[in-house]
Amino acid sequence: MKGMFITFEGIDGSGKSTIIGRMKHMMSDAIFTSEPTSFLSDIIKDEKDAIVITLLFAADRKKHLLKIEEWLEKGKMVISDRYVDSTFAYQIAHANDTFENVYEWIECIHRPFIITPDITFLFILPVDIAMKRIGNREKSLYERKEFLEKVQENYLKIAKREPERFFIVDATKEIDEIVEICYNKITEKMKE
Ligand code: ADP
Repeated sequence: MKGMFITFEGIDGSGKSTIIGRMKHMMSDAIFTSEPTSFLSDIIKDEKDAIVITLLFAADRKKHLLKIEEWLEKGKMVISDRYVDSTFAYQIAHANDTFENVYEWIECIHRPFIITPDITFLFILPVDIAMKRIGNREKSLYERKEFLEKVQENYLKIAKREPERFFIVDATKEIDEIVEICYNKITEKMKE
C-alpha cells in the first residue's frame, strides 16, 4: 500500500510549524518530518554561496527521501515542514544574481530522484505580518523583508505551474481555522 505525502511551504513566520504542531495531536498515525534535516543544519549554518547551499540542500533531500520512500511504502502518511519547493523559492531569490536559468538548474539536479507530494499547502500572508511574527527571533540571511517578498513571489509562480498539487492557505486566518482547513483538505484527498 502506498501512503500519502504532504508538504507545508511558505516564508519564515507564515505559521507552518505552528499548524503542523497542532496537527500532530490530531493525526497520531502520521509521520512528521522536516527539512533541512539536523544533519544539514549544522553544516549549512555559515555557508553563503548560493550554489553550495543548493547542492547541500539537494544532497540532504536525497537522504531524507530514502526515509520518506520507506515510510510511504509502508502506507504511512508523511507530513514534511518544507521540501523541494523551499529550494526553488529561496534559492531562485538567492542565486538569481549569480547565474541565469536557476529554476531549470534546480529542476535538473533533482530530476533523477525527486518524488512529487500529493498536496502542498502554501501559506501566504503580507511579509510585514510574517516579520512581526518572527519578532526578535535571530534573523537569518533569509529573513529580511525584501528577500522574503521575492521568496513569496517565487512560491506563487511555482504554485501556478502545478495548481492541482498546491493548496494556497490564507495564513492571516486564526490558527484554529487554518488547522481545520488543512485537516479537511487532507481528509478529502484521502477519499480520492
Ligand atoms: P514558520 O514555521 O512558518 O516559520 P511559526 O509557526 O514558527 O512560523 O510561527 C511564527 C510565529 O507566528 C509564532 O510565534 C506563532 O505563534 C505565530 N503564529 C503562527 N500562526 C499564526 C496565526 N495564524 N495567527 C497569529 N500568529 C500565528
